[in-house]
Amino acid sequence: MLKVGITGNIGSGKTTGCKVFEVLGIPVFYADEAAKKVMIEDDVLIDAIKAAFGNEAYYEDGSLNRKHIGGIVFNDKQRLEELNALVHPAVFRAFDVWVEEQADAPYVLKEAAILFESGSYKKCDRSILVAAPLDIRIDRVMKRDGVTADEVKSREARQYPQEKKMELADDIIINDDSELVIPQMLKLHELYLSLANNK
Ligand code: ATP
Repeated sequence: MLKVGITGNIGSGKTTGCKVFEVLGIPVFYADEAAKKVMIEDDVLIDAIKAAFGNEAYYEDGSLNRKHIGGIVFNDKQRLEELNALVHPAVFRAFDVWVEEQADAPYVLKEAAILFESGSYKKCDRSILVAAPLDIRIDRVMKRDGVTADEVKSREARQYPQEKKMELADDIIINDDSELVIPQMLKLHELYLSLANNK
């Protein structure tokens, strides 16, 4: 199965872009949602999180105590990396299981905000970056989330710069209002169909 990773910095429009591929019949795996799911469903991961962050990491009903974990990792890069090192392999496992279930699809997409930062692009055959200038992305997120420009900038600062991702990505979708995005996506769709056929 051809696996295409899709990413983009905050407000770039990657989730919106994925909806277009879904309309074309391409299944999309949303890694952030999967991470939330495995943290409450994958028993091996749950035990590892409790061992590293204490039993208080979970409430008695099995839901995640985000406040407890957030309080530990928010300003501690090392502990955040420790948490990520536990969660990422569980998300990879969930992705592999999910891919097996998509046998009828010509190819699949994996949407991940940290596709490049986590190294997970290396497990994909191809990668797409959805890109737009920072000022446009700030405006979009301020409108979408009702937050300030500074809040968007601080979230942006935690990601690799968009320029670095442009170098790493195989394919780029420009979503800056100057170019129509759907034709760009259709072109990539054709490319992936032919790559999938030759795989
Ligand atoms: P995040 O990383 O913050 O989750 P994202 O990359 O998934 O963001 P989206 O949520 O898809 O981005 O898009 C951000 C906002 O910008 C949304 O409200 C979306 O509707 C809007 N948007 C996306 N593309 C465009 C566009 N071409 N023109 C106008 N608005 C757009």
